[in-house]
Amino acid sequence: MTIDTVIHGGMLVTPDSTFEGDLAVDDGTIVSVGTEQAMPDAEETIDASGLIVMPGVVDPHVHIDDHVSLDTYETATSAAALGGVTTLIDFAWQSYVSEDSPWDEEKPLRDGVERKKKNSDQAVIDFGLHGGILREDPDLFDELADLVDSGITSFKMYTTYEFGLSNGFIREVFERLRDLNAVGVAHTEDDSVCESLTSEFQAADRDDPTWLPAARPDYAEAMAADDIARLAQETGTKYYGIHTSCQKAAEALARYQDDGSLIRGETCTHYTTLTKDIYRELGSLPKIAPPIRTDDDNDAMFEYLQNGTLSVVSTDHVAQTRERKENSKWWEDPFGANGLQTSLPVFHDEAVNKRGLSYPFLVQVMCAKPAQTFGLPNKGTLEPGTDADIVLFDPNETYTISARHNASVADYTIYDGREVTGKVTRTYLRGELVASEGEIVGKPGYGKFVRRERPVWNED
Ligand SMILES: [Zn+2]
Repeated sequence: MTIDTVIHGGMLVTPDSTFEGDLAVDDGTIVSVGTEQAMPDAEETIDASGLIVMPGVVDPHVHIDDHVSLDTYETATSAAALGGVTTLIDFAWQSYVSEDSPWDEEKPLRDGVERKKKNSDQAVIDFGLHGGILREDPDLFDELADLVDSGITSFKMYTTYEFGLSNGFIREVFERLRDLNAVGVAHTEDDSVCESLTSEFQAADRDDPTWLPAARPDYAEAMAADDIARLAQETGTKYYGIHTSCQKAAEALARYQDDGSLIRGETCTHYTTLTKDIYRELGSLPKIAPPIRTDDDNDAMFEYLQNGTLSVVSTDHVAQTRERKENSKWWEDPFGANGLQTSLPVFHDEAVNKRGLSYPFLVQVMCAKPAQTFGLPNKGTLEPGTDADIVLFDPNETYTISARHNASVADYTIYDGREVTGKVTRTYLRGELVASEGEIVGKPGYGKFVRRERPVWNED
């Protein structure tokens, strides 16, 4: 029997180990991992000597083509493929109506799902969807079971912004998610604290963007993180705290993790690698929420990733342009920064090169854990029988990050000018080469919607 491809002589990385070896792919699936002698005959052999061979990154926190982000599916997933990301999870939104809302009619969440599925036909990589709940409308409860059955097994809510939900409504959602075995996800910042500080700074005309982090302080994040994690624990709901930015919020999650199974947490690459000095350097371009914080918080993110309080590193990718970001006072600017194309090389450089953490750690937090947390058993692993989503990564190549290479419609990067060692050279999705040496070679449309399973969290 002759199979499609053998990737030969690379350093294979799993969540538990690294070893020099070969990996065989047939019909889009990994069929064998081991020594050269153990490999079947292949039509094509790819020389991976000197390269890291790792599972494609699974990024569970990405915004595409909606009121949050300007990217199309083609531009965002191209950035992802170039950055070694082979699966992402975007959001399907329940529409709400307000002066600032992009919708003029309140529609059910399933309409938001249909819209994303329709607009994603040019995807270069695979993707799933979280349901995004933006209104306190009990009609939603009738939709949840069907959505979960259709592979949307996690639901995001906000405690802030005009579409933030009350703790009471979040409790009601959590009880239903618990019964459906789905996951609750929340953006946690105390809205009234952030609003009062922002108004105060606005009234005092503190229009320098360096005020931005103080307007959404770490304690406001920790207050809401504590509330929602407690609600999850009290209701017995699987809960995933997204974009944890600081020590105080991570401590809040840790407080409710005593049973080890219901509460998980994520941080993002920028909270591990950048400090609030970035607002002095780049003005409001890095305006995100929660904001970028301090050196000590960077250290804390690594501490909590190592002890398991936090288990995933994502991007919270949002495409914005300089024009939209720089045209107004910082409190009026849109939120969000892009990161899909740079997350793996930037996080690798920080975690492995600078902090001496292992490659298995990198694969845990960027591939295996996000896949396992969100019900993607065929992703984020090199196990035979799973999807051949594979990244070849040159750990020795040094380059400087520049927005000139952006595939996203975003025309800047918060990592601009950062020199990193380690570069994605090839990205395979289900055995097909989708990005090679900085160029997209995959066909838009090859990336598919993935129906996610109801995740089981107490297995590992
Ligand atoms: Zn987000």
